[in-house]
Parts: sequence; structure tokens; C-alpha cells
Amino acid sequence: MIQNVIRKYDLRLPRYTSYPTTPHFSTTVEGEVYTGWLSSLPAESRLSLYVHIAYCAEMCWFCGCHTKITRKYQPVADYLAAVLAEIDLVAQRLSGREVVGHIHFGGGSPTILSAEDFGRTIAHMRSRFALAPEAEIAVELDPRTTDTAYVAAMARAGVTRASIGVQDFDEAVQKAINRLQPHAVTCQVIESLRAEGITAINMDLVYGLPHQTSASVVAMVDRAVALAPRRLSLFGYAHVPWMKKHQRLIDEAVLPDTAERWRQYEAAHERLTAHGYVAVGLDHYAAPDDELALALREGRLHRNFQGYTTDQAMVLLGFGASAIGSLPQGYVINEGEVTAYKRLVREGRLATRRGIAVTADDRLRRAVIERLMCDMAVNLDAVAARFGMEGGVFTPELNALAGLEADGVLVRTGRTLRVTPAGRPLVRLVCAAFDRYLKAGEHRHSKAV
Ligand code: SF4
Repeated sequence: MIQNVIRKYDLRLPRYTSYPTTPHFSTTVEGEVYTGWLSSLPAESRLSLYVHIAYCAEMCWFCGCHTKITRKYQPVADYLAAVLAEIDLVAQRLSGREVVGHIHFGGGSPTILSAEDFGRTIAHMRSRFALAPEAEIAVELDPRTTDTAYVAAMARAGVTRASIGVQDFDEAVQKAINRLQPHAVTCQVIESLRAEGITAINMDLVYGLPHQTSASVVAMVDRAVALAPRRLSLFGYAHVPWMKKHQRLIDEAVLPDTAERWRQYEAAHERLTAHGYVAVGLDHYAAPDDELALALREGRLHRNFQGYTTDQAMVLLGFGASAIGSLPQGYVINEGEVTAYKRLVREGRLATRRGIAVTADDRLRRAVIERLMCDMAVNLDAVAARFGMEGGVFTPELNALAGLEADGVLVRTGRTLRVTPAGRPLVRLVCAAFDRYLKAGEHRHSKAV
């Protein structure tokens, strides 16, 4: 039955890593507004930092990230100089007493940095911010550009977690997405990380890629699990060639259709849970004793621009082209074009391009959407009470969800909504009912499944 539902709701929806979502950010929020927000943060705020390295050595055709390709190191070095200068500009606007609990390096490929520059970047951050002794420092790794010197630099810098991009181990799939990554290379990086004491290892897998089948994704899961990662993510390939022109290089004739994508998701999900991994939110899996699984059990899981997290910080500061920040007052996104980004920073200006101040209504709806995305359930009256509101809000939204309830995507008990196991991959449809900004057909996001 759920197959029919998926066909019926073949929609493109946001991934709800924020609410409001980025298409609704506007240029009314720029550097000056961001400066005001930074300087009015309480001195004891807990911070998370995100650093975006917007370069890769080669373009993977499935890529949906914000990145540029370079074969030379000078553009990377120039870009890094701008990122370090931006860190200074932001740090100057803070009181200086904030404590950093999380740092995340994403991209692009953070591993395109030289080992020395990576170490220098962390040292620079340590000199500008107070890092908590237990701070998590996480880095996204491309095994093809990660050598042992880089891993050693990560260990020296205090990195605690590594996210390894795999997508699929199958060579035919790898060829079709222009990302040849031999199994031995992935294994070797994991071995080096463990030898250096970096044992918190995540692995990123993708379904819905060219040539994949439900049988092949099961084989992909088995090979991934054999390497014993603590966490896995399982993303559906988002084919959006009107936004990402390089995706036109992917042969659409060998892409699975919506029904096959569903079968692949289901097969991979079943295999991962059969291996003992706990399903976390929409697309993450964690070992049962991993902090992410514990946070899920205890209702303290969060969702931010990096996905699911145990991070409780109210402030996420983003550095680098296209980096997004989240503050109690609202969201900001940096200039995405690298040359323009570098120019702004060189002129001593914050690189904020757009943003949005969140309203009381946004905060309420964000809390509902976050609980749905994290817990697959929400008690609407409990959320309303957290915001000092009487029960009984969201009646129009509940009425709008009657169709999904009839289709078996969710079960409603009073004012508590629970997404069914079969409806799990459609949770974004449930969230969309609470999204005041989303009008049918207005935006073209990735497919809901
Ligand atoms: S390495 Fe990652 S960010 Fe770079 S092109 Fe490939 S998928 Fe995109």
C-alpha cells in the first residue's frame, strides 16, 4: 500500500535541517544584522562551529554539495586564508567568554587541505575560541585524498570523529558517478584512523544511484557493516540537474525510478537494522551504545545543518563560502561564490549574504518539525506548552493530515502524532503540513523518498 502512497506523493520537499528553510532566507539579513546578533549573545553561550572547505580535486557527478574543482593548491590556500580571517572577524564580535563544544569540517573536501594547513586551522580556532576539554571535532573525509600524514595531523589536532564518504563500493556505480574509490583505499583510511585513536567513525552511503538495485544495496550495506562504523548515514541520491548542472552527466536511463528507490531504501534499512544498528531519524543509523542512539532513546536528539546530532548548543557559527549559521535570533548564510566571499572578508566585512530572523511562530513550528524529524512522533500540546501556549493549536494542520493518516503514514492519538514504521521515509510530508512557508509546487527540492 505504501508504494501507492509514494507514487501519490511523488513530491519534492525540504530536508528540514532548519525551519524556516533556506529558500526563505532574504537579503534583509546581512553583515550588520549578523553583527548585532553576535554581539548580543549571552557571554556564557555554548557554541558549535562549522567550517566549509569549498574545494575538491575532482567532481563527483552525483554531488549536491557546494564545491569548486581545482587541481592546484594555491586557490585552496587563498580560500583558507579568507576562512581564517573570517574566524577573526566573527570572534571579534563576540564577548570572548563563549565555550565551543563542537567543531565540524565539511565541504567540499576538508581533506584537500594539506596536513599542515589542517593543523594550522584548528590551532587558529583554538587561539580565538575556548574549546571545551570534551569538545567533539568532526571531519568529513574523502578517502581518495586522505593520506597517513593527514590522519596523523587530525589526531594531533584533537579530532574525535571522522565521516567517511563511501556512497557505494560497487565499481559500476562508482564509474557512473565519476568517483572511483577502491575498497582497499576506504579500508586503509579506516585502519589509519583507528591506529591514531580516532575510533568514532561514520560512513556515508547512498541509494538511488545509477545501476543500483535492491540486491546491490544490501551487498553495499554488508560491506560497510564489515568495517564496523559507529554510525552510518543512508541518503537517497537527489537528482536535481536543473540546480546542479554536472548531474546532467549522469545517464538518467540507468537511474532507478521512485518505486525502485523505495525498494532500495527498504532493503538497506532492513539490512542495517538486522545488523543491529538503530534507525535514527530519517537517514541515520547508529550502534545501539552510540551516543546518537542514546540521545534518540532519551528524547534529546537534535537536527541541524549537518544532520542529526547530540549537540545541544543554541549557536552554530558557520565559516566559509555558503556556510550557514544558526543563532537564537535567526539564521544566516554566507556568500556562496568563492571570489565574492574572499573579497568581502578581505574588506573586513562579514560574508553574510542572506538570512532570516525567526518569529515566535517559527520557533513553535520548528520545534514540532524537529521532534517529528528526530523522534518520528510529536505531542503537539507538549510542544505548545513549552512555548507557554494553551493546547489546541494546529487544528488546521491536523485536519490537513487526515489524508496521510488514512494512507497509513501516521497514526494520531488525540494530539499526538506518530509516524508509522512504513511511513518513516515520508516523514517530510508530515513536517510539510506544519511549514507555513511551503506552498504546493513553489519550490523544487529533492524527492521525499
Ligand atoms: S568529494 Fe564530496 S563534495 Fe567533492 S565533488 Fe565529490 S561528493 Fe562532492
